[in-house]
Amino acid sequence: MIESKIVDPYVESYIKTLVPTHTGLLGALEVYAEEHHVPIVQSEIAQYLKVMLKIKQPRAILEIGTAIGYSASLMALEMQSGIIETIELKEEMYQKASETFAELKSIAPRVEVIQHLGDAAEVLQTLNGKYDMIFIDAAKGHYKAFFDLCYPMLKDEGIIVSDNVLYKGMIATNEYLVRRKITIVKRMRKYLAFLTTHPELETTVLPMGDGLAISIKKGGHA
Ligand code: SAH
Ligand code: MG
Repeated sequence: MIESKIVDPYVESYIKTLVPTHTGLLGALEVYAEEHHVPIVQSEIAQYLKVMLKIKQPRAILEIGTAIGYSASLMALEMQSGIIETIELKEEMYQKASETFAELKSIAPRVEVIQHLGDAAEVLQTLNGKYDMIFIDAAKGHYKAFFDLCYPMLKDEGIIVSDNVLYKGMIATNEYLVRRKITIVKRMRKYLAFLTTHPELETTVLPMGDGLAISIKKGGHA
């Protein structure tokens, strides 16, 4: 087992035993991710997202970091109907995700998935949707740049979920800091300080998985 350095390993592994296992498309993607070392959301994060989507019931989601389409499929399967736009930099991931979404179509026919290939920093400038939820799960050193570009597209009462914000424990303490990650770590600390003091947002940082920040746009009654 990989030690997350975020919660006690025994608590983390215990919680993972409480997460229902997936069969079908999601189960197959979990196996593929494990075999090919694709960093999909951890099982307790997947479960958290499911619960959050049941509460929030978003109709339009923007995802930054598609990978093989696991989290997008998980979210699509929680939606009655709606749209998910998802951005991926790597061609091979984009291709694999296309196969995933072709299969997803038969099990979530009322959810439209739109894939974008390219650097989110560029693709985001071409989008003009309005989203109930934005999931940021890509290059950790660029979250603030992604935020600045996508925030104008977040509806009032919309939610931004940022994954990996406690990056292997390195964000909370220098004790775990790996030298070559110092720029990412400094940027992530700045991003969390920014998010948690943003006047239009209410944010909570959860020590779950690799760290998850949930921010809700307060709308008119801040
Ligand atoms: N959300 C996925 C996992 C994403 S892993 C899931 O849980 O199933 C992060 C992905 O972000 C990788 O596939 C990586 O290629 C992609 N990525 C990294 N930098 C990016 C960028 N600047 N723009 C778009 N995608 C990026
Ligand atoms: Mg992640």
